[in-house]
Amino acid sequence: MSDKSDHRFRSGAPPVVDVPTEAPQPRRNFARWRALSLSLVYVVFAVHIIHWKMTGKTLAPLELNEVMYTLELGIITAGFLFMCFLVLGTLIFGRFFCSWACHIMVLQDLCAWILRRFRIRQKPIRSRLLLLVPPLTAFYMFIWPQIVRAWHSKAFPTFHFATDREGWASLVTNNFWRNLPGPTVIIITFLVCGFFIVYLLGSRTFCTYVCPYGAIFALADRLTPARIRVNDKCQQCGTCTAACTCGIRVHEEVRQHGMIVNPACLKDLDCVAACPQGALRYTFSKPALLKSIKSGGRFGSLPYDFSIGEELLIGFVFIVVLLSLRGLYSRIPFLLSLGLGAIIGYFAVLTVRLFARPNVLFATLRLKELGRLTFAGRVFSGFAAILAVFVAHSVFVRYHEYLGLTQARALRAAQGLSHTNATTTVSAEAAATASAAAYADAANADMDTLAGSALTHLRTADRWGLVRNVRVERGILTAASRLERFDDVEEYALRLLERDPNDISANLRLGQAWAGLGRLADAEGLFRNVLARWPDDPGGAAPALAGVHQALGGLLARRGDFAGAAEQLRATVALNPDQPEVFAELGGVLAELGRFDEAIASLREAVRLDPDLAGAHYNLGTILAHLGRFEEAVSCYEHALAITPDDAELHNNLGYVLLRTGQLDQSLQHLERAVALDPNRADAHFNLATVFDAQQQTEQAAEHYRIAARLDPRYAKLLGVNQSE
Ligand code: SF4
Ligand code: SF4
Ligand code: SF4
Repeated sequence: MSDKSDHRFRSGAPPVVDVPTEAPQPRRNFARWRALSLSLVYVVFAVHIIHWKMTGKTLAPLELNEVMYTLELGIITAGFLFMCFLVLGTLIFGRFFCSWACHIMVLQDLCAWILRRFRIRQKPIRSRLLLLVPPLTAFYMFIWPQIVRAWHSKAFPTFHFATDREGWASLVTNNFWRNLPGPTVIIITFLVCGFFIVYLLGSRTFCTYVCPYGAIFALADRLTPARIRVNDKCQQCGTCTAACTCGIRVHEEVRQHGMIVNPACLKDLDCVAACPQGALRYTFSKPALLKSIKSGGRFGSLPYDFSIGEELLIGFVFIVVLLSLRGLYSRIPFLLSLGLGAIIGYFAVLTVRLFARPNVLFATLRLKELGRLTFAGRVFSGFAAILAVFVAHSVFVRYHEYLGLTQARALRAAQGLSHTNATTTVSAEAAATASAAAYADAANADMDTLAGSALTHLRTADRWGLVRNVRVERGILTAASRLERFDDVEEYALRLLERDPNDISANLRLGQAWAGLGRLADAEGLFRNVLARWPDDPGGAAPALAGVHQALGGLLARRGDFAGAAEQLRATVALNPDQPEVFAELGGVLAELGRFDEAIASLREAVRLDPDLAGAHYNLGTILAHLGRFEEAVSCYEHALAITPDDAELHNNLGYVLLRTGQLDQSLQHLERAVALDPNRADAHFNLATVFDAQQQTEQAAEHYRIAARLDPRYAKLLGVNQSE
């Protein structure tokens, strides 16, 4: 019995040709060959994983989303090369990959087969708005980042091959899961995108309404000369249309164009096999280009299932679900959130229909009949209510998670810190380029306010989240470290280490927290333990290990072991030679050891890497002055002053070395500025007095000697005066 209240017909739609409702058995063996081909996909997966487990290295996963990383970072990935191969193949032969080798297709067709075995009939939904999802998603993933890049006048990265040591290997990797969300999430994704979506929305609806790669293949398919054509034996029986699990109106297209022009055709050849007249064959012909539009678009003469209002509701819910679920708990991948968005959007429409209509169908299930909810309707309503609460909760958690993580990322960028896991960094940075841009000036912002805000948001996300989120915990570490809330740092570092004791970044934070809490021996023991556990070649962990060496060096310097500190800082720069502040720190430690030549070399490297490092210029000037190389010292102090022009100590030191080089007028200027900036600097008054003395301005000299003696007893003693005078 059909439910007329559920149908909306487009005005002016062509009459619908009845076709057999059950798919006929294919007469040729394409289906078996296809089943074999699709099964082999999972066999290849298994072999790939076994190879990785046995050798520790393997071919990088052929993940199509790695195209994004290639476009973002310039690293030529295996996924990118695979995509190029597939697009080229589609341009020549059509969309064969989709129905013969896609792992999601395996699941979708398996689900459809199981449903057929249980005689559960599917009713694929027809939505005009959801049809836009795949092309828009493809645009968002691949084109939009390039527009943003151009907008910010950023150069396109140079294409190059990389290894794991650089954090993202091109072809051979030891990190098989680098871009995959882990086994549990993969299984959930497969269940939702391969099974639930087929059961709830209809056969191959993931391809129709979600898959961004499908949109690219569809575009290529419009251009391919490989087509399924009809000959004059066709009797318009509609058997081919009934056989098509993509829902293409085959008999209509071949009648109108002599071939199948719909780019949604996945070339499974079921229609070719099913045609009782043998009227269809795969051959080369003219490309279809935009002919499918003339045939009525994706669904031919069939009407859409939703009114405009319902389509808008689907779109709204889809976007809310996508924004709230994507990346939630650092677990939900993009494709899964898209699939859930389509399903939940459809559920929203069904829920509204339950209120507004006397009769409501869901696929072949009757939810409401003559104004009364059926048993299925009550079950559906309960489920929809739970789903609504889940989505609302997810919106709340995601909101705090997103803001907190973006702020924590800005903090890390400003502090020049990197993540332990280079993969996570790449992934997170690629995904959040646009949002991080909003915080591009973080270095100039009030960092403590930013850290406080990040901590509040992330703690809220942590408290209300349904599962633990490693990225949130890392963000809390970053913010709490900035605020020196060492108890919080200790708590969250220990939580991260519970999950992964080899997490270098968490170990580093824990050691820093212990050092901050005064547990110096514990911190030192922890750092030494971490360093002892890692091999000589740490690969992608090098930057994080460098951080541990640096922290240990800082601890040793703090307790006066400058030789040990120098050793650790040398190890730091060996692992991560691009950190100017570490060279500066090393220069300071070497100066403490009296190894001035090495100290000067290290400080010069620091200012070469970062000419704006005022502290390094200052230390360099001080060492050179100490060695009596006053001319060189003048230049260093002048550099430092150009960066921090209101530094009283710098003016004093520069004034002093100028005095020593006999440049009394310039010396006087800087010393007067020093005492103006800090009237309580005894040394500046003393130096100023010396200059006045040299210029035989005895009155001024006496005045400043007197102030210096009053401010500092050492000058009083030196000058032989009573400090109270
Ligand atoms: S459209 Fe996407 S999910 Fe569907 S078969 Fe093609 S690649 Fe696979
Ligand atoms: S192509 Fe074959 S199956 Fe399709 S309508 Fe014509 S005769 Fe029937
Ligand atoms: S039109 Fe034919 S080849 Fe294309 S998807 Fe449908 S059944 Fe398969």
